[in-house]
Amino acid sequence: MKGPGEAAETEASGEGHQSSPASESSVQADVSPTSRRDISRSSINERSRSKSRSKADGQERHVNGRQVSDLTAHRSVAGVYRVSNEQNLQVKGTGKIFKAKSAANGHVESCQRQTEEKCEHGVKEDGNKVGKKRRSVTVDSSKAKTSLEALKLSIRQLKWKEFPIGRRTACDIYWHGVSFHDNENIVSGQVNKFPGMIEMLRKINLSRAVRTMQELFPEEYNFYPRSWILPEEYQLFSTQVRLLKDNDSTLKPTFIVKPDNGSQGDGIYLIRDPADLRVISGSQVKQAVVQEYIQKPLLIDKLKFDIRLYVLVRSLEPLEMYIAKEGLTRFCTEPYQEPSQKNLSHVFMHLTNYSLNVHSGNFVHSDSCNTGSKRTFSSVLYRLGSKGVDIKKVWSDIIALVIKTVIALVPELKVHYQADIPPGKPGPTCFQILGFDILLMKNLKPILLEVNSNPSMRIEHEQEVSPGVFEYVPSLVDEEVKVGVIRDTLRLMDPAQRKQYGVTNFGVGSPEDAIVVDAERDEKEGLADSLPSLCLKQVFPKYTKQFNYLRVVERIATIFLRFLGVKGTMRLGPTGFRTFIRNCKLSNSSFSMASADILYIDITQRECFAFIVSKSIRMGLHAFIEAFFYLAARRFKALPLREQVVSLLEVCESSIDGQGHGEKPRPHRSNTNANPASAHCSAPPTLNSPALMRRHQYHRQHQPLQPSAKGNTDN
Ligand code: ADP
Repeated sequence: MKGPGEAAETEASGEGHQSSPASESSVQADVSPTSRRDISRSSINERSRSKSRSKADGQERHVNGRQVSDLTAHRSVAGVYRVSNEQNLQVKGTGKIFKAKSAANGHVESCQRQTEEKCEHGVKEDGNKVGKKRRSVTVDSSKAKTSLEALKLSIRQLKWKEFPIGRRTACDIYWHGVSFHDNENIVSGQVNKFPGMIEMLRKINLSRAVRTMQELFPEEYNFYPRSWILPEEYQLFSTQVRLLKDNDSTLKPTFIVKPDNGSQGDGIYLIRDPADLRVISGSQVKQAVVQEYIQKPLLIDKLKFDIRLYVLVRSLEPLEMYIAKEGLTRFCTEPYQEPSQKNLSHVFMHLTNYSLNVHSGNFVHSDSCNTGSKRTFSSVLYRLGSKGVDIKKVWSDIIALVIKTVIALVPELKVHYQADIPPGKPGPTCFQILGFDILLMKNLKPILLEVNSNPSMRIEHEQEVSPGVFEYVPSLVDEEVKVGVIRDTLRLMDPAQRKQYGVTNFGVGSPEDAIVVDAERDEKEGLADSLPSLCLKQVFPKYTKQFNYLRVVERIATIFLRFLGVKGTMRLGPTGFRTFIRNCKLSNSSFSMASADILYIDITQRECFAFIVSKSIRMGLHAFIEAFFYLAARRFKALPLREQVVSLLEVCESSIDGQGHGEKPRPHRSNTNANPASAHCSAPPTLNSPALMRRHQYHRQHQPLQPSAKGNTDN
């Protein structure tokens, strides 16, 4: 007799897997054999380290009960065992108390009262000979926050040098816990955050960016559930749901509502009727995304789960990205049932967030990678593979999803980057680890749920040690995955490699240089034995040929940046827009400069509609793209949208090329608020706004909620 999990998996493997565009099928999925080997290697390393730590500590390493809390109290990642500082944290609304332990770190404390030179000397005394061969890489970890423990382990494995309270002189790498701006006044080195990433990955902005791509490439971007932005698209949402139900009364779609700046499942709820939307909170209109709910996820052991994958964006220009071969899967703690009015509020059934499910009595903490409520992705793939699922196909679809999503984000990120780190001014370069949350549908199609700019790098989990009292205790599964990701990110960011290729404004070098860890150097320095092979797999520029055609909006952003002006702002003024129209030769007898002014006001007002009211209006990239699409549609009426836009790009690029590059305005460091949502605006849009009309036209063309095979609906 089959167990429950087996039944679910057989179902999954039996389901026809949707075909993906040709461009995707040639993506090489470097899956199980290698990744599993890597995992087991790193696993062995980690386990032996953990064991010796336990031995040295004289404590047993258990993940339950008091023994764990004792161990935690003495645990240190720097090889020096000290008692942690404890802080009690009352969690809002839960009545629960968390005992958080700040990192007890011998290195931190020993360095705190020493000069930097003494620290350096200390490292040499410890027998680290790296400095004799070449200066060891320096990492400022003073702002690392919750990623500190994993970072420390990584630095130790690499035998690099950590500066836990910062350094008077520059470090090679600055590790920030939250944002690019955690540490101001960095003028060199590399920071592990891009300016603007937090803003870009808020739910509304991510939805907007993906939607722009869906307009141009509907087939390629059907991995993101249909979404509406609230409050501005409330009417559209209500109308479309009503139409759908009128057309087919048997359809019972469910929607998930997510607050714009929410995380960890906070404020999320399911609805079946637009009337159930909680649009107002007090006197404030809530900004949120309402999204089609995927009703038929793949289940394992009857439980819904999602995948957390780590993606390194190593550089924007040239675009370079890597995917971690290992990730995490987070399981619900209540058996899944398709949504019904009765179970809509069952969070442990519908939401996979660890932060929620950990509070369920059914949550299973496990030190094993393939059991429990949090498992490695490879263990899930292995299990699916053993049931006949084509896991290479699953992986290559996921890789395609990741590349396409990053391509959608890059245009806005470049605008932020140039505002914060203008060309020609001293500044750091940036890289960032992102957390992709992906759901597999029953038919194995991956669906993007969200991208986290600050994925948790904690290597501990919360555990209830006595009623209502929680402690952070070591989590082997987290440690195994996250330390590998941070360590290999550092290896890829080693400045010795980067210098060879020169630094550009947005990142490093030329596309061909992308990779690889200098195995020879690691060997000379005696690291080869101790370090597993890279757990990060390069996917771009590796798959440039398959995906470059999607980078259309990035070309629009390049034009936008060119006309942005000298102040380093992120918004284009009316004069800049006129210059764009004039220089790109877009005005003629049927489109005068006065029409251009009206277009500018119309579209900019529409973009600003939902935000602050003010007299000054300026155009952000999103509005510029709207204007560009409108101009393209006007000029190349007979063509489909994508060809209209590409044709107009060619017109603009050749006009700009003809004028030479000498007159390109050079933006400077911006002091403006980097959040596009805080832009100044004045009035609501006119109903015949071209952008609005174009948007309505788009919605007419792409009827949502059709449960068809190719859409992002839950079929
Ligand atoms: P948060 O940032 O608050 O975690 P998410 O977008 O990740 O918000 O959503 C939280 C959880 O809700 C996800 O982990 C997933 O389990 C579930 N979820 C989110 N969007 C959908 C969707 N469109 N269909 C089905 N489940 C979803």
